[in-house]
Amino acid sequence: MSELIYLDNAATTKVAPEVYEAMNPYFEEYYGNAASVYRFAGESKKAVEDARKEVADFLGAKPNEIYFTGGGSESDNWALKGIAFSQRKKGKHIITSAIEHHAILHTCEYLEKLGYEITYVGVDENGIIKLDELEKSIREDTILISVMFANNEIGSIQPIKEIGEIAKKHKVLFHTDAVQAYGHVPINVDECHIDMLSASGHKINGPKGIGIMYLRNGVQIESFVHGGAQERGKRAGTHNTPGIVGFGRATTLAKEKMEERTKKEVELRDYLIKRVLDEVPYTKLNGDKVKRLPNNVNFSFRFIEGESLLIMLDQKGICASSGSACTSGSLDPSHVLLAIGLPHEIAHGSLRLTLSDETTKEEIDYTVEAIKTVVERLRSMSPLYEDFVKKNKQ
Ligand SMILES: *Cc1c(COP(=O)(O)O)cnc(C)c1O
Repeated sequence: MSELIYLDNAATTKVAPEVYEAMNPYFEEYYGNAASVYRFAGESKKAVEDARKEVADFLGAKPNEIYFTGGGSESDNWALKGIAFSQRKKGKHIITSAIEHHAILHTCEYLEKLGYEITYVGVDENGIIKLDELEKSIREDTILISVMFANNEIGSIQPIKEIGEIAKKHKVLFHTDAVQAYGHVPINVDECHIDMLSASGHKINGPKGIGIMYLRNGVQIESFVHGGAQERGKRAGTHNTPGIVGFGRATTLAKEKMEERTKKEVELRDYLIKRVLDEVPYTKLNGDKVKRLPNNVNFSFRFIEGESLLIMLDQKGICASSGSACTSGSLDPSHVLLAIGLPHEIAHGSLRLTLSDETTKEEIDYTVEAIKTVVERLRSMSPLYEDFVKKNKQ
């Protein structure tokens, strides 16, 4: 077993050797600017267009509907601001969910300052969006629905096809932040009536700083980065050829391995969930049991502070993430955990573990033992826990 147990694959992933190898020639050998006319640049241009096709194939889209961006956050910003600005004459109302990634939520807050109105639709206790609430919130002036495909904290997979059908019925554009789902579950943009979709390279064993936006042909959107004529005039900037090649290779690799990988991850995930729920008292699994990303586990441990848990797991060589936003300098518990109805003190004691296809049963066993030890230790120091135990004994 390696000294480092990396269980934070929702935060970022390791670049796959096949991806690294595919990217390599585009640094030193074929470094031409994909937009130049001489034959040497043709190698770069071809590589970019081949990658575009790989992405399009994965999504059931056309290559000219794929735009390369600087990552998931940029794609999310572009989708929201681009539609807000291009449709402002039609209306200024946007619908999203309460459990989106900050790339969506903070962009919505920015748009609110510019006079847009945002409706944040709630989720049930498993983190699944309330479809009736979503449909009821559609108005004359609604220009966009943006709901994530799968949640990055609790792994809940949304009823994307149903949302797409509602959007289509009411003739409202539909964007989905698919950063956590892309490469992990099958996605077909036509079947789900998706007009726009964001994905990111570094969440799928690809490089960091590269993403895509799928934009259905015919959808009018303002460009987000102004400058050169790259990406059909919609996203300026010299192509990140190695990054784009890496994104394409990572997509195809994820597609080829998906079935085998899902089976393996689901098995380990469910084993981890069962062991922790069985062996650590006063513990709750957050998120839907079934409609869940294959590699996501999220627990709340009562009487525990998530940050202390993370630090103590780190001392045992385990990289994990807490459900709270403390790491980002705020003491507020995660908006996702609050949205599924957890009280503050329980939301604070949360732990997210996200597996990769390289995670082993041995690593999971070691992690379960570490969690047991650390949780017991932290509880033994908690006055709240002491009170609780005393009360329960009486
Ligand atoms: C990671 C993530 C993003 C941001 O993607 P970057 O490429 O890191 O900018 C957006 N949305 C979700 C759901 C994510 O998990």
